Amino acid sequence: MYHSIPATDDLQDAGQMTTPFELFKRQMAYLSEHRFNVISCRTMTDLLANKQPIPLRSVVITFDDGFRNNLSTLPVLEEYGFPAMFFLSTHALDGEADYLSWSEAERLAHSSRFSIGSHSVSHRNLKRLDEPDVRDEIFVSKQKLEERLQEPIEYFAIPFGSYGAFDGRTRRLLQSAGFVAAFSTIAGVNSHRSDLFALRRTRISWFDDMTTFPDQLSGYYDWYRWWQKMSKSL
Ligand SMILES: [Zn+2]
Repeated sequence: MYHSIPATDDLQDAGQMTTPFELFKRQMAYLSEHRFNVISCRTMTDLLANKQPIPLRSVVITFDDGFRNNLSTLPVLEEYGFPAMFFLSTHALDGEADYLSWSEAERLAHSSRFSIGSHSVSHRNLKRLDEPDVRDEIFVSKQKLEERLQEPIEYFAIPFGSYGAFDGRTRRLLQSAGFVAAFSTIAGVNSHRSDLFALRRTRISWFDDMTTFPDQLSGYYDWYRWWQKMSKSL
């Protein structure tokens, strides 16, 4: 799970939301050189829905929030033939500075390699909202994205995404809206036993240089989810 991909390498934010472009490029080269199997969200969830094992060394690449600088990753992903999912919030698409515009989102949606998922309307913590507001965040974001992009939106990334950010109500509403799967920000690898509405993702940022990146891929840092659980960290 990536967020912002700035061109400069001096943005080492505490929230680990940034991955410098040059580092991102090295990480993609690593996946290619070490023959990782980069698969789409669809391929992964089809396997999970059929209770089939995910082949070893499989990786899904996702980007949250729709930072405009994500566009710089497209030629790199194209070069290696890697699919990727971009989770977008509709408020940001409506014209927030530094975020993708609707026409840029359309470009992504109409490529065969890239996909768009919902990241709610306004990126609030769904667990803290009243039910009508949660419903709007889920249903309205899906409807707006589908109307504008003219394709089904079947995947959702839960804003903040850790233990303090979603509950059974979120799941029920996501399912009734027709989402196929939802992604959390709880660290870890997914297996055929994974919960399709709380899929795990490992945050990759400036912190993950070429010494820790292989460990992140192997699940070495998956202990981090216990810390997330204890602290109800977002
Ligand atoms: Zn987000």
